[in-house]
Amino acid sequence: MIIVGITGGIGSGKTTVAKIFQEKYGIPVYIADDEAKRLMNDSKIIKQELIALFGEKAYKEGQLNKAYLSQEIFNDKSKLKKMNAIVHPRVAQHFKNWVDKQQAPYVLKEAAILFESGSYKQCDYVITVTAPLSMRVERVLKRDNTTKEKVQSIVENQWSDEKKIKLSNFVIVNKAFEKTREQVHETHSKILNLIG
Ligand code: ATP
Repeated sequence: MIIVGITGGIGSGKTTVAKIFQEKYGIPVYIADDEAKRLMNDSKIIKQELIALFGEKAYKEGQLNKAYLSQEIFNDKSKLKKMNAIVHPRVAQHFKNWVDKQQAPYVLKEAAILFESGSYKQCDYVITVTAPLSMRVERVLKRDNTTKEKVQSIVENQWSDEKKIKLSNFVIVNKAFEKTREQVHETHSKILNLIG
């Protein structure tokens, strides 16, 4: 199966763009961040290992205690590495199983940290979604209950668009929806041509 990674900075619109591929062209989409969150809540082994790392407070009423984990990671950066070592291999395995079940010319794997995590190396092609920073911040402030400062600090922790674009096969500039849809169409056609 051909795997196409799709990424982009916070608020660039990668989920929105991935959904266009799915809805318009029937391309299966795996949203890695959502699957990771789901596995952290549902997988017994992940639960046990996270509790061993963070203590019982890692879960509250059976659900992942995100606020507590963020605070723990913020106070001790080595815990992020350890948490990733617990979660990432399980998500990678889950993704492989998912891929095996798909029937399509290619699949999309959407991940915010596709480059930062190195998982772009397992993709045949990569699409980076971009938008001007001011637009991205505005979108996130409208979508989430957050502050400009928090969004800014996430932006600073992600790779720059420039760096991502250098390693990408395709770039989709997501400003006005109509233009985005045209670019999705072009990109989809190019991928189909490349994979014959
Ligand atoms: P994150 O990394 O934060 O999950 P993302 O890159 O997946 O973000 P989306 O969730 O797809 O981004 O988009 C962010 C917000 O901007 C959403 O509320 C979405 O509806 C909106 N949005 C996305 N693209 C556009 C667009 N072209 N025009 C207007 N609003 C948009």
